[in-house]
Amino acid sequence: MDCLFCKIIAGEIPADIIYHDDDVLVFNDINPQAPVHKIIIPKKHIATLNDITEKEAPLIGHMLLVAKNIAHELNIADSGYRTIFNCNSDAGQEVFHIHLHLLGGRKMHWPPG
Ligand code: AMP
Ligand code: ZN
Repeated sequence: MDCLFCKIIAGEIPADIIYHDDDVLVFNDINPQAPVHKIIIPKKHIATLNDITEKEAPLIGHMLLVAKNIAHELNIADSGYRTIFNCNSDAGQEVFHIHLHLLGGRKMHWPPG
């Protein structure tokens, strides 16, 4: 499958992987938008958030728990952090394999651009 993140999972493209378990992989974003910018992906290919069903609810919950644990490990849990799923073009989704952005280490703005 011609999917960048599936290729990272398969080890065909290198990434700065900081965590993995049976279901997810976490790596540093190649173009970080904050001092902490991690990408959390499921090992299973799902193109967009529109494609999730009730069956994926535990997986999506697990991705958020992993984000929380990494935020604690990196000492940004108390200062704060942002978690984002971009879906399709208006949100700026560029890689069509769902991923959770974990951003922190600086003050975020609201509303987002
Ligand atoms: P999105 O715009 O939500 O689809 O986000 C895709 C993210 O993946 C962007 O923040 C990119 O900087 C990041 N990205 C793209 N290619 C790579 C790569 N090879 N390794 C790590 N991060 C990547
Ligand atoms: Zn994929």
